[in-house]
Amino acid sequence: CGIVGYIGPKKAVPILIEGLSKLEYRGYDSAGVAIINQGKIQVEKCKGRLAALEERLKNNPIEGSVGIGHTRWATHGEPSDVNSHPHSNKDFTISVVHNGIIENYLKLKEWLMSLGYEFKTETDTEVVPHLIDYFYEGDILKATMQAVSKIEGSYALGIICSKEPDKLIAVRKDSPLIVGKGQGENFIASDIPAVLPYTRDVYLLDNREIAVLTKDNVEFYTLEGLKINKEIFHVTWDA
Ligand code: GLU
Repeated sequence: CGIVGYIGPKKAVPILIEGLSKLEYRGYDSAGVAIINQGKIQVEKCKGRLAALEERLKNNPIEGSVGIGHTRWATHGEPSDVNSHPHSNKDFTISVVHNGIIENYLKLKEWLMSLGYEFKTETDTEVVPHLIDYFYEGDILKATMQAVSKIEGSYALGIICSKEPDKLIAVRKDSPLIVGKGQGENFIASDIPAVLPYTRDVYLLDNREIAVLTKDNVEFYTLEGLKINKEIFHVTWDA
């Protein structure tokens, strides 16, 4: 399973697919991407190999230069097109990729359903976009912090929001996630080899740290909203 994300001036899809291919060694049963294209989120995802996703994207190209990608190793909900990530809120303004297990998802799902949220999948992950939607008041960073404070279990999350198309959010606990710092472009990934074709400067996210990427900048916060200064780690080896 793996996560990638891109924000910059280039077309996101080829970069996400290449990144995901570098994470194939981790194993997976499905793959998908979500891209912000002209202010709207477009999703393509399916069960099976990355090649199946690439085939779909060839027939149905997605433009746009901000996006997230995922390879899934199913834990909750069978491998299927609908259970594949990214998962989104109802109006597709928020999309999320997740590695890990949300231990308290049933309780959260019941609560969200009682508020009128409709679920389309059997995954634990789908509570996350709905939770962020619930807390969203115009600030995706804040809403993510609030959502994550409700979650128990393990997670690496990549998040995009079409209402804030110049941001990519990353946060983790007990599942790996790194940030790649480029020139006028930035990346997230489960592991360093996925960003090495583009940059050797990475930040290693620690548990309960959240990163906000724009194309020119990366900022880090605690889940309580305190700004953190992190050191760049320069990768000298080759994948
Ligand atoms: N628990 C999530 C699911 O089954 C994420 C699995 C993963 O880490 O790929 O959809």
